[in-house]
Amino acid sequence: MPLKKYIRDIQDFPKPGIGFKDITPLLLNPIARKETLHLLISNLKDKQINKVIGVESRGFFFGILIAEELNAGFIPVRKPKKLPFDTISASYDLEYGTDTLEIHIDAIQKGDKVLIHDDVLATGGTAKAVCELVERLGGEIVQCNFLMELSFLNGREKIAGKPIFSAITY
Ligand code: 5GP
Repeated sequence: MPLKKYIRDIQDFPKPGIGFKDITPLLLNPIARKETLHLLISNLKDKQINKVIGVESRGFFFGILIAEELNAGFIPVRKPKKLPFDTISASYDLEYGTDTLEIHIDAIQKGDKVLIHDDVLATGGTAKAVCELVERLGGEIVQCNFLMELSFLNGREKIAGKPIFSAITY
């Protein structure tokens, strides 16, 4: 099934000049959704992953489904001040300014085998910050896993050295 059919291009969202890839048509279609999940877990079964991270907020959708398939724990990585317990944080540069992500300090134990999932790999700043959080807590990053990769933005370079998988590439 050509999954790109279920990704909608929205011009000038969230700001003028930006072309946004909208995954909601894919979420709406149970067959496309199932096929996407199948692709996302296709090479993960024998990797002993015990924790799956979903990055706020669109990384939560497939993140929790992947965790279920792998029988692994699920960890939300969130924007500042959303998580109720003690956190550590990592900041990354945006075009203008910076953004920050947080994780609970007890979400990962040393030696955990961690899968990081997000909907999109764009410039890679988000993924790099999440990798930093995992490594600071002593987790081993087994794979950075994305529904979609915007390869023309070279996000891979920011997380060079980590195994990367994308179900759909533009
Ligand atoms: P990056 O940090 O790699 O530049 O951006 C990735 C983050 O921004 C992801 O968390 C993703 O949800 C969001 N993002 C950036 N561009 C898009 C897009 O075109 N579509 C969607 N759905 N998310 C995007």
